[in-house]
Amino acid sequence: MAVWIGLDIGGTKIMVAAADGEGNILHRERRATSTSLREDLANVNSMIAAVAGDEQILGMGAAIGGPLDWERGIVSPLHQPDWRNVPLKALMEEKWSCPFQVDVDTNVAAIGEYRWGGVSASRFLYLTLSTGMGGGFLVDGKIYRGRNGAHPEVGHEAIHFRCANPSAVQCECGAPDCLEALISGNGIRRIYGRPAEELRREEWEEVAYNLGQGLRNMAALYAPEVISIGGGVAVGGGARFIEAARNVMEEHLKLVPAPQVNLSQLGYDTALRGAIAMALNR
Ligand SMILES: [Zn+2]
Repeated sequence: MAVWIGLDIGGTKIMVAAADGEGNILHRERRATSTSLREDLANVNSMIAAVAGDEQILGMGAAIGGPLDWERGIVSPLHQPDWRNVPLKALMEEKWSCPFQVDVDTNVAAIGEYRWGGVSASRFLYLTLSTGMGGGFLVDGKIYRGRNGAHPEVGHEAIHFRCANPSAVQCECGAPDCLEALISGNGIRRIYGRPAEELRREEWEEVAYNLGQGLRNMAALYAPEVISIGGGVAVGGGARFIEAARNVMEEHLKLVPAPQVNLSQLGYDTALRGAIAMALNR
């Protein structure tokens, strides 16, 4: 039997899975991300060997933080400082003798949700709301890319926001007023002085308002049929949080039909499942 490999290389953990030709996960491994590129690569290779066993590997897909060059497969994930200009595609294709494809984690998660989350929209926006924030936009299942393959950064739009502590709003990109700085895990910690899971009710309402204003902008610009939201902050806030944000969006969105807004169906496996879909599509 042959297998296809999916990798989700994150700033805190690395997940690797082997799947059959239908995308069913057969074996999976998970390890903490280290601070060393050499150690991470050694871990990735030993996890691949463990999940594949004696089976032939026919393709690999990987999700990793940007920025990256998706065509040449050269990656420099922002939150993994030892990974700079790593020719991941070349390294993996030489080591494993199979096609390897890598993309920005939010794009890969969008593919996972589209393929396995029961999405049938021709214009589909997926948002990750975790430590940071990002999105992937699919048109008929294909990734929408900007100029020269640039990844659109929806987390770095400015919005009309509410904040009890506005002087603490500061984005890691350097701008003072990004959506990510208001609603991501790191932004929440900076503004409210504690993690999302410890927010009080009125603070959740403020975060939901700001997410809703972001959704309103994204709905106005992309005019999607469906927006799915995943990541730890979204999952932690749950259905009530998503509904509050959707209400703000609907109240302020006038000329474009309001999209359906829902929580991701795949939980923490969205990017891993998307990586498997990419491996199979080769
Ligand atoms: Zn920013």
